[in-house]
Amino acid sequence: MRSAIAQRLHALRSEIDDELVACGRARGEVTIVGVTKKQPADVLVAAVAAGLRDIGENYVQEAKEKFATVGASTIGLEGARAHFIGHVQTNKAKLVAGLFDLVQTVDRVEAAAALGKAASGAGKVLGVLLQVNISPAERFGCPPGEADRLAGAVRETAGLRLEGMMAIGPITRDPQEIVRAFDLATKTFGRVGGSVLSIGMSSDWREAVRAGSTMVRIGTALFGERRV
Ligand SMILES: *Cc1c(COP(=O)(O)O)cnc(C)c1O
Repeated sequence: MRSAIAQRLHALRSEIDDELVACGRARGEVTIVGVTKKQPADVLVAAVAAGLRDIGENYVQEAKEKFATVGASTIGLEGARAHFIGHVQTNKAKLVAGLFDLVQTVDRVEAAAALGKAASGAGKVLGVLLQVNISPAERFGCPPGEADRLAGAVRETAGLRLEGMMAIGPITRDPQEIVRAFDLATKTFGRVGGSVLSIGMSSDWREAVRAGSTMVRIGTALFGERRV
């Protein structure tokens, strides 16, 4: 019998595939990252058991404890990729570089430098995305106009491999505002380059897929309300 998480994952995958087909794209073009922040370790285990190959966490200490509980190595849980989607603090760069495979939230040169140094020191090449700010309410993220310059700096940073771009949509009920913000993300992605455009969460993944998302980050729609 399928677990509740497996059922939701299956349903979400087919809804995303339907949306992809509806906008002339191919099924399977969007990677689902299951966001397990503020969910207990057993949710992580259930997510991987349900077939999720990508897991996202926001808080370094929480992730460290849960990954240890689940018996994860730096490679991730049973080969699942671990994505860091929280704000990068330079004093936590070493931990982040050790625990995660893809850091989606590089929004300034200092964060890139600290992560590059930590990854090089650990003898690994860390995948990263630029976080670009597309919403006035969002605290973090590089301004779209500075994304080219930051992308250039990241490409010159030893220990890092720039794979693309991430952005968080505006919190609003106005679908037009979401569409405009994702349009800005897609245009900026065209200048940043790479193969990954990480936009779309539980409430706005449809707009994101229509705008060209290749990766959605889904928490509540898969795992329910977050616990603390
Ligand atoms: C929490 C979070 C998500 C998931 O949000 P849901 O609305 O629960 O899908 C995605 N991306 C980031 C950066 C987050 O912090």
